[in-house]
Amino acid sequence: KAKQSGRNCYAFYTDAITKLADRKLKIANELKKAIQNDELELYYQPQINLLTQQIVGAEALIRWHHPEEGLLAPNAFIGIAEESGIIHELSKWVLRKGCQQLKKWQDNKLNISLSLNVSSKDFNFPDFITDIGALIEEHAIQTQFLELELTETAIMEHPQQALFTLTQIREMGVSVAVDDFGIGHSAIAYLKKFPVTKLKIDRSFIHELESDESNRTLVATIINLAKSFDLSVVAEGIEIAAHEQVLIELGCDIGQGYLYSKPVPCAEFEQLLGTVNPCHVD
Ligand code: C2E
Ligand code: MG
Ligand code: MG
Ligand code: MG
Repeated sequence: KAKQSGRNCYAFYTDAITKLADRKLKIANELKKAIQNDELELYYQPQINLLTQQIVGAEALIRWHHPEEGLLAPNAFIGIAEESGIIHELSKWVLRKGCQQLKKWQDNKLNISLSLNVSSKDFNFPDFITDIGALIEEHAIQTQFLELELTETAIMEHPQQALFTLTQIREMGVSVAVDDFGIGHSAIAYLKKFPVTKLKIDRSFIHELESDESNRTLVATIINLAKSFDLSVVAEGIEIAAHEQVLIELGCDIGQGYLYSKPVPCAEFEQLLGTVNPCHVD
């Protein structure tokens, strides 16, 4: 009997693993077509100057209009894109789309920055820098408004390569934000060595910021750390006014979160820009 159920168990797991592998393969194949079939879209989430309440930038967040499954969030496919190598093509699409959008805003004299998420996989890909350089040139981007977001893990995976790549990105005038700052296991000593320009405080620390003393201490520490390294600092995941209040008290410059807006399609984002009377560059 025990043997019987053991065999069933084994069969169950193999079955589950096969299903998962099938699922991954299916998503990977569909993702290739999704790029060609124009099923991907960048949503934009505003970044707010906490003191003036003006929109100073946007983070682009990818969405997939899957023909059968509807709107898919990145967690459903970015991991698979990374494992299968499709990430390079996907990131190219994101960079191109992002640069086109930034160019439009700049042509309309909108003084806002655009942050694009990149993968550690791109980061260690030799063509990455060439691609960005070509896009910047093609779209005549004012690069001080373009920012790439990457995680500590991406930086620490291959530190030598990362240092090289980051230096080249900074030489183009493009900013570099450390995403999800504080949850990685890496020592903060890398801040001394790597030319990053911004820290994004992970939203797990913003959650319950108003009542959780240890979160408040952590956030205060990150803000002070950023200031002492002359980096700007963004808080992610601001959901209620009480979060914002604490962040203002602690001297955080910029915020992002559902309190202001969820990520929205471009047209909606531009409407948001209209309502807050964005500053214009002359
Ligand atoms: P991330 O870069 O840390 O992006 C922030 C995530 O937090 C987004 O989820 C956003 O919708 C969500 N968020 C923003 N404000 C709030 C809030 O107030 N409360 C809560 N609960 N959540 C909030 P999303 O869009 O599902 O993206 C998830 C992750 O997928 C991103 O995390 C990023 O790592 C990755 N990602 C998104 N777009 C791209 C892309 O174009 N390329 C790559 N390589 N990765 C991407
Ligand atoms: Mg991000
Ligand atoms: Mg983040
Ligand atoms: Mg995150």
